[in-house]
Amino acid sequence: MPEVNEESEVRQENLGGFAALGLSTRVLKAIQEMGFEEPSPIQERTIPSAMQGRDVIGRAQTGTGKTAAFGIPIVERLDRTIGVQALVITPTRELALQVSEEIARIGKFRGVKTLPVYGGQPYERQIRALRMGVPIVIGTPGRLLDHLGRGTLNLSRIRTLVLDEADEMLDMGFIEDIEKIFASAPQERQTMLFSATFPPEIERLSRRYLRDPVRIAIAPEQVTVPQTEQAFYEVRGHDRIEALSRVLDMETVERGIIFCRTKKEVDELSEALRARGYMAAGIHGDLTQRERERVLGRFRQGEVELLVATDVAARGLDIEHVSHVINYEIPQDAEAYVHRIGRTGRAGRSGVAITLIEPKEFRQLRDLERGIGQRIQRRELPSLEDLWDKRRERVKAELRAVLRSGRSLAQLRELVRELLEDEAEIDSLDVAAAALQLHVNGAEAVPVEEDFGDTGAEPGMVRLFINVGRAQGIVPADVVRAVANLSGIAGNVIGVIDIYDRFTFVEVPKAEATRVMHALQSGQIKGRSVNVEPARRRS
Ligand code: AMP
Repeated sequence: MPEVNEESEVRQENLGGFAALGLSTRVLKAIQEMGFEEPSPIQERTIPSAMQGRDVIGRAQTGTGKTAAFGIPIVERLDRTIGVQALVITPTRELALQVSEEIARIGKFRGVKTLPVYGGQPYERQIRALRMGVPIVIGTPGRLLDHLGRGTLNLSRIRTLVLDEADEMLDMGFIEDIEKIFASAPQERQTMLFSATFPPEIERLSRRYLRDPVRIAIAPEQVTVPQTEQAFYEVRGHDRIEALSRVLDMETVERGIIFCRTKKEVDELSEALRARGYMAAGIHGDLTQRERERVLGRFRQGEVELLVATDVAARGLDIEHVSHVINYEIPQDAEAYVHRIGRTGRAGRSGVAITLIEPKEFRQLRDLERGIGQRIQRRELPSLEDLWDKRRERVKAELRAVLRSGRSLAQLRELVRELLEDEAEIDSLDVAAAALQLHVNGAEAVPVEEDFGDTGAEPGMVRLFINVGRAQGIVPADVVRAVANLSGIAGNVIGVIDIYDRFTFVEVPKAEATRVMHALQSGQIKGRSVNVEPARRRS
């Protein structure tokens, strides 16, 4: 194994496994910023060979960390004096974007730029970027061929070629296109192929185009599973936090550990949960021993009900009576899954393990099931009505308990009587219902309209200023999506959206403005935290 880079100033103690892979300081720093603590199995095994320029065949799918497994070596092997040096072919536009963003993050401190090219986007922008000589291009086969045909993409200096999700490309009928692209690249190059499955056609492709490849398979190992009730909920990416909240409310989680992949996710999720009124705290490798002990102490004593953690931080945790383990992000493999869910149901008590799954992760879920040799039961995300039914029963039980307790209610009865005398048009049922409204939803449920002054919006609306704009790639759909998903207001009540280079204005109904502001502040737009303020009228 290569030696640890000596000039490194980054906090290597938090990046033990990555530092041992012989990465440069700048890449280690980027990985630290991305919040990765340890290399995933595929990364641990791919990176050393790929850094030496070997061809690689990886049997791995999304969620295993395969992007960084090829992205890190690509960034490390760049030689900045020439044009396009690495090409990644992906089956879909979404994947191209994701891969491009992830490699750009890895290359951040090396000043490395990446360019996603896919159909549907204007050619001019892509051509300009290609002319400027981006070193790493990530694209879908059709558009890549177009560029090759127009002479706007030159592959003659490619050093690394990656085929990502090869089996998907096969299913989508892209194999011929891929072979044409391969033919335009120099013979002398590194080729990496990643695929979740290896049908004969993919095997043929590998034999034809890869030279003495290192084969890396992250085989789902058979592992022993503790006696824990296991279920998964299907969620769609954007409303994960909302979905999690519903699950938390429905499942009556007394003391739960919620697992995330990265330190960043831990911080963001624990904050978002606190903003929603849960007693949540996060732990990960950046905490000092003291901070860690303090959080764990509060969790043991019940001051914190939800512990949000990375796998590394949760290792060796010894906490009794964890009622639920929740995989906010699906774990990397069956072994990690079993480690996680083993945190619940200790000391003879039963526990529940819940995993949130996006439709595109179903294959990973099946792999997990194969690895543990069990089916994981599907549960439907509770609707607002289900939650209300549950809450109703709870409130009724609480009220009955107070009424039966024999506690004196004289003072409060007096208060009700006064109200009834003052307000001729209400009766005692109204008062009781209003009191319950406060109890159930808190004062927040009653929209209190703040005075935002003149923000230059249409009547009845408030114009909000957000500190991201075109330069951050923001388009109107991002704003609508973020506002609607984070604050729960309907997309069609959102008013005018003006996007400038470095900031954006959006108009929202006055009654919702406070909520939207808070929701955006604690959430993200296109993966970025933002600052939101009421706009000031232009003079
Ligand atoms: P991929 O399989 O490349 O699609 O990666 C799945 C997700 O895992 C992405 O969000 C990555 O940012 C994240 N990820 C990749 N490697 C690691 C790691 N070593 N530790 C934590 N998260 C990771």
